[in-house]
Amino acid sequence: MRVDPRLLDLQEQDSAIDRLEARRAALERGEPVMEARRAADEAERALGELRLGLDELDREASRLEHEIDSIGRKAADEEARLYDGSVANARELDAIRREVENLRGRAAAREDELLAVMERREAIERDALAAEARAAELRGEVDRVRGDAERELAAVLEELRARTRAREALAEAIDAELLDLYERLRRQKKGVGAAALVDGVCQGCHEQLSAVELDRLKRGDGIPRCEHCRRILVP
Ligand SMILES: [Zn+2]
Repeated sequence: MRVDPRLLDLQEQDSAIDRLEARRAALERGEPVMEARRAADEAERALGELRLGLDELDREASRLEHEIDSIGRKAADEEARLYDGSVANARELDAIRREVENLRGRAAAREDELLAVMERREAIERDALAAEARAAELRGEVDRVRGDAERELAAVLEELRARTRAREALAEAIDAELLDLYERLRRQKKGVGAAALVDGVCQGCHEQLSAVELDRLKRGDGIPRCEHCRRILVP
């Protein structure tokens, strides 16, 4: 089994170049920045929802305050009638007393409700403060990510240039027929045309070659290929 071992170096360069090209495309599309922006938008949306919740509780609190106020005024008016001499009838006075008691009871119940609303509001206010800090942090993160992405793209382009040069030099040194087969396989097989053969296992498809096939490869002359994935094998 004879095959130029530099083919594996070429494969390594080509795989690295493919990865770098994919990263370059993602960076040029602005993906990291878009992702950071999405996270910031999401945090702001969550903050907006908490603020809506606070507005609703404020409206609820204000409604209860008005109700307590109005019940209190009504109770005071009724109470005044007990003492201003306008009602003399004992039964009627009793009825007014019961009405005052009833109104005071309703006001107390509304005050308990108001207290519960204020407690809920306090908890949501705390969450909103934390959410506000989080949103501001993520908004700042967008700028940081943008700077990082610019630096990363410059580094990717630099590495691409270096690897492309190294790749060209390797390709020139490899036999044309072998190179041609390798290029064709790379197009068909997700960028991997050549794989190492380690302990009888093809590193391209990770399948074990049969003893018969290994023996045939050892004795054969031609370009060794994996019996499973047909990639070029480099022992
Ligand atoms: Zn294989």
